[in-house]
Amino acid sequence: MIQNKYKILLVEDEANIRNLVATMLDTAGYQTILAESCSIAKALFTSYLPDLVILDLGLPDMDGMDLLDFVRKDSLTPIIVLSARTNESDKISALDRGANDYITKPFGSGELLARVRAALRNNRFSADEGKLPGGRFTHKELVIDYDARQVFINEEEIKLTQTEYNILALLSENCGKMMTYASIIKAIWGSCVQEGSIKKLQVNMANIRKKLGDKPGEANYIANELGVGYRLNT
Ligand code: CA
Repeated sequence: MIQNKYKILLVEDEANIRNLVATMLDTAGYQTILAESCSIAKALFTSYLPDLVILDLGLPDMDGMDLLDFVRKDSLTPIIVLSARTNESDKISALDRGANDYITKPFGSGELLARVRAALRNNRFSADEGKLPGGRFTHKELVIDYDARQVFINEEEIKLTQTEYNILALLSENCGKMMTYASIIKAIWGSCVQEGSIKKLQVNMANIRKKLGDKPGEANYIANELGVGYRLNT
């Protein structure tokens, strides 16, 4: 059944990290394709058409951002950025240039595999259900009825304002993807980030999370990466 395995292109120049991540992925049943530079990765991406790319940003020949642009030119293949950079602006620019998510080194196997599953699910969702008008989104006890613009938890309707509904629907259409503040603000209010707009988003988001019953420190529906954005967990 090897043909049915998901193919993951892992782009990382440091041999010990590359081997470690490859072992994590192999053990979990994924097929890994390894690249140690941007140019090798471009060639392998074109010939193997992987289901997912895990990309280190600091590569010897080119910046990992070049590979991001190369993949995004004509494909929606999910990309998880692997980065030692703790700088928020690097993460935000990678996300705004089309990366689905990022993981900061060092990370554990559990965290990596959760992000991989979420990114693969996100891709299936956008490829199938996400393109249909209306329809439903379901995850754990959460159900979103896009036609009726209604939200339920355990079959009980959750009353949201129009803006709160629009934000939740947007996150669900991109479930598993980290959405930056700027991308949410642009999609909901059609404007660029201005003074007060992040605050406005945070207030709406706090209300949504409260209504969904999200509590700090628990396995929640919505994850908040401070200074970066929000993700609807899958
Ligand atoms: Ca590196």
